[in-house]
Amino acid sequence: MVMLHPFYCVKHHLLAFSVLLSIFGCHLVSHAQDKALNIYSARHYPTDEALYSDFTKSTGIQINRVDADDAGILARLKAEGSSSPADVILLVDAARLWRGEIDGLFQPIQSKVLEAAIPPQLRAKPSDGGIAWFGLSTRARVVVYNPSKVKKEAVDTYEKLADPVNKGKLCVRSGSHPYNLSLFGSMTEHLGPAKTEIWLKGLVSNMARSPKGGDTDQIKGVASGECGMALTNTYYLARLMRSESADDKVLVAKITVVFPNQSTTGTHVNVAGGAVARYAKNKNNAVLFLEYLASPAAQNHFANGNNEWPVSKGVRFDNPALQAMTGGTFKSEVLPISAVGVNQIKAQQMLDRVGFR
Ligand code: FE
Repeated sequence: MVMLHPFYCVKHHLLAFSVLLSIFGCHLVSHAQDKALNIYSARHYPTDEALYSDFTKSTGIQINRVDADDAGILARLKAEGSSSPADVILLVDAARLWRGEIDGLFQPIQSKVLEAAIPPQLRAKPSDGGIAWFGLSTRARVVVYNPSKVKKEAVDTYEKLADPVNKGKLCVRSGSHPYNLSLFGSMTEHLGPAKTEIWLKGLVSNMARSPKGGDTDQIKGVASGECGMALTNTYYLARLMRSESADDKVLVAKITVVFPNQSTTGTHVNVAGGAVARYAKNKNNAVLFLEYLASPAAQNHFANGNNEWPVSKGVRFDNPALQAMTGGTFKSEVLPISAVGVNQIKAQQMLDRVGFR
């Protein structure tokens, strides 16, 4: 009989390994088991429960899960080393996935199924072949604006957010947040470092207030008129658009969304993605699970449950908020997924120099 230790870890923001290890007092079964899979997940979306239970239902493989944020998971993997019970790692940012790869926390896998389903630019390819990690869903980083304060023509590219015409209008969360660092990493790729630093300086001079809060707080700032424009990931906006709350309906009516850079490089998209842990004891189950996440059923779930864009080829979905935002489709940037990670350190140094907190 397969013995599983039931456990539950809640999301924590962790600073030090000692704190980390004591907070994660719960532990996973560390020996290999035929019908078990240990997942460390940064996907903070309650709708994902259905994904896990459907997998268990169809395969009989029991999932044990640790929930933490991206940084907490990477720190934990490092601290655990070869005794880590983790099989699958799910993170919600390309730069953090890249970090996991270069820190040697993942192992490359071979999968014809993933190669067929996931577009090549969303697969990180190690020099010795295979797939190091890959995007399972994308989220676009878009601009919301208040049409009573700002015209669309003034905010329809990322570059224009730094234009002096937008002085005192920009709201944005901390520059060092992974969602922003990935956008800045992509801008560094498109514009080169010198122009990107000037652009970042322009963003700082255009801020309506010091960076604070999450993406939803920025959207609220635009609706209230405190900000003219803000950056947000699309699923936060879609969540508000699909909300039944009367307050949210009023809020959504006051804002407009624009997908930046449609006539140039395309809108920046980040990924939520997955990898197999370097010391996975249940490697076959791990690959099976990742292949399942690329299946049409799971991809549909990302779209309809959490308002993310599916990445697998040919998957159809009918999320009304995503359709309404784009009119069906939009042009996303095409960058090799590892590029934003490579530029992270540069981007952070630029933020420090221009005083973008
Ligand atoms: Fe998020």
